[in-house]
Parts: sequence; C-alpha cells; structure tokens
Amino acid sequence: MAGAPEVTVAGAGALGLAAAVALADAGCAVTVCDPAPAAANASGVAAGMLAPAFEAALDPQTAGCLDVLLAARDLWPALEARTGVSVDRSGAVAVGSEGWLAAVRNAFGGLGLHLADVPRAALDDLTPGLSPVFARGLMTREDWRLEPLSALAALRRAAEASGVVFRTGPARPGDAWLVIATGASQDLADVASALKHLTPIKGHILRAATGAAGRVALRGEGAYAVAADGGLAIGATMEAGVADPTVEPAQETPLRKAGAKLFPAVAEAPVTLLAGVRAATPDGLPMVGLAGEKTVLAVGARRNGWLLAPLAARIVAACVTGRDPGPYAARLDPRRFGEAA
Ligand SMILES: Cc1cc2nc3c(=O)[nH]c(=O)nc-3n(C[C@H](O)[C@H](O)[C@H](O)COP(=O)(O)OP(=O)(O)OC[C@H]3O[C@@H](n4cnc5c(N)ncnc54)[C@H](O)[C@@H]3O)c2cc1C
Repeated sequence: MAGAPEVTVAGAGALGLAAAVALADAGCAVTVCDPAPAAANASGVAAGMLAPAFEAALDPQTAGCLDVLLAARDLWPALEARTGVSVDRSGAVAVGSEGWLAAVRNAFGGLGLHLADVPRAALDDLTPGLSPVFARGLMTREDWRLEPLSALAALRRAAEASGVVFRTGPARPGDAWLVIATGASQDLADVASALKHLTPIKGHILRAATGAAGRVALRGEGAYAVAADGGLAIGATMEAGVADPTVEPAQETPLRKAGAKLFPAVAEAPVTLLAGVRAATPDGLPMVGLAGEKTVLAVGARRNGWLLAPLAARIVAACVTGRDPGPYAARLDPRRFGEAA
C-alpha cells in the first residue's frame, strides 16, 4: 500500500497480535516478528479469563483500575466479531468459607458491582463436579473468558487475512515504526529504556484432564479453576522477580491440592504443569503508547494481558496513525514512570 505506515510488531502474544490486527485495519503495512514457536508465551499458557470484576475485587493492585479493565472488556465483542475469537460470557462464581464470601461481597460492593446468590442446586449445573462442601456461591456476569490457544490462532488468521506478514526471529529496529510487545523480555531495552520498569512474575498453572467442568470460571480462596481443553486449568502462582519460564515440577502438588479442594476429581486426574512469565509495571497497569521516535510500547499487562489486549491495540494503532488514542491513553502512557520520549 503506497504511503501506508510500515510497522514492525515485535512479539506474537495477545498484545502483539491484537495490535497487528488494529494496525492493519488502520491501513498500516505490518510485519510481526517473534523468535518463539506460536503460543510458547505467557498468552498461550494463560487461563484466558477476561475478568474485570474478580480481578479488581481480589487483587489489591488492580482495585483502582476497574474502569480501565471494564473499558477493555467492552472492546472484546468488536474484536470477537472482527477476528472470530470466541468469547464465553457465562460469568464467574466464587465459592469458599462464609467469611471469605462476605469479604468478596464487600469488595464487589465497594466497587459498585453486584453479585448474585447461587444456591447449591444451581452450582451443580454451572460447575459439575464441584466439591460438596460448598453450600452456595456468588456469581457475576461481568467476567468473561476465552480459550487462549484458539484465540491466538484466530488473531493470527485474522491478521494474515488482512495482509500482515509473519517472520520467525527477533525484531530488528529499522526505519519502520516499531511496536514492542515482547512480554517480559528485555531484548529491546536498548531501544526503549522504559522496558527496565518491567518486573517478571512467573506463573505456574495446572491443566487437569477431569472431563467437562462447566463454563463459568470458579474463584476459590487462593486459587481459580476454569474450563480448558475439556478439563480444568487451575491457577496460578505469582512468583515475583522470576523470569525463567522453565516448569518446576515442585509446583504441581500445591496446585493439585488447591484444585482438588474445588473439584475433588483433580486429586487423581492426569495433569500437565505449564509456566509462563507475566510482565508487570510498578503501578500494575501496562505501558502502552509512544516511548521514543516511531517506537510504541504494548507491554506490562501483568495478570490481565488477554483482557487488556483490545484496549492496548486501539492505543497502539492511534499512536502510529496520529489519531486520538482515547481516554485511557494517559493512564497507560509509558512515560509516566519518568522516561523522556
Ligand atoms: C499462569 C498465567 C495465567 C494467566 N491468566 C490470565 C487470564 O486468565 N487472563 C488474562 O487476561 N491474563 C492472564 N495472564 C496474563 C497474560 O497471559 C499476560 O498478561 C499476556 O499474555 C501478556 O501478553 P503479551 O503479548 O504482552 O506477552 P507474551 O504472551 O509473553 O508474548 C510476548 C512475545 O514476545 C516475543 N518476543 C520476546 N522477545 C522478542 C524479540 N526480541 N523480538 C520479537 N519477539 C520477541 C516472545 O517470544 C513472545 O511470544 C496469565 C499469565 C500467566 C503466566
């Protein structure tokens, strides 16, 4: 396309692929570079929850970001229609001790969010195989989910159909615009020094072949379980400061125990342990926006990279094309930690 901005996107995770689609839609000539095989990244390992409500309610660092998370969640239906990513809107349910459920209800109330009571009989329909110790649950429809591997494949297909070129290998800065969506990697820190503000947080997650487990995401005390691959994904550890993505077998037992408290079948089920590394900024929100001349960041989405991907993509495309990046761009500006562009 003559005169179209040329853009290299470094990284084919959720943020890089969503940005590639948005850039192609904005008329850019896009090349995505990634040295790793498809889905061998945090995006492929993730649970796939699009969970503004429970993340804001349960994660202290995210409590003040509900508006950003909801805005990102609300961009998913358009991205779903555009790319064929399938988003499940069945919702999420909390189960646990009465004291913990009261704390969850308080946290939701403080955020202005509603939780519906779910009696045990309804829990049996929503989450077959749930432990009988839970007499009731609390449900929100604000939280959605997707299957990460299918979603990565759908985003890539949509990008390719729009003319985006994929190359296997690290991105090399050149004359084109560079969008850095390299997750927790510091490879391009000499191009964008703001990457040094990222901290790695390794996460282990257990896939258990338990059979069908319903469609709602289940939130328990200290662990969650969501449907995945016809079984369950149970997660996840938060290992701050650890950048090595190697799976550590010792992490299996605690995750299996946590999962079995929710779904007893997990105790004996065949399991696969996976690990990925999230990237986090000092304030828990990602760095998205200009970080230098013709250099744009889309990194640091911590526990919510899938949720935030369409919002990040919109801001990235606006930065490259000079359009209005919208009301959340200032909150996500990479320069907020003191870097000069
Ligand atoms: C266990 C676990 C569970 C999670 N659950 C959820 C969840 O339920 N919901 C949610 O929203 N988020 C979840 N997350 C967080 C989410 O996975 C991340 O925030 C998100 O995947 C980050 O996407 P990304 O594109 O920034 O990075 P990544 O997915 O890590 O992708 C970065 C890519 O950049 C590539 N790269 C690195 N260096 C270079 C280079 N020099 N040139 C080119 N490419 C390069 C890498 O190979 C990689 O493919 C979870 C994370 C973990 C670990």
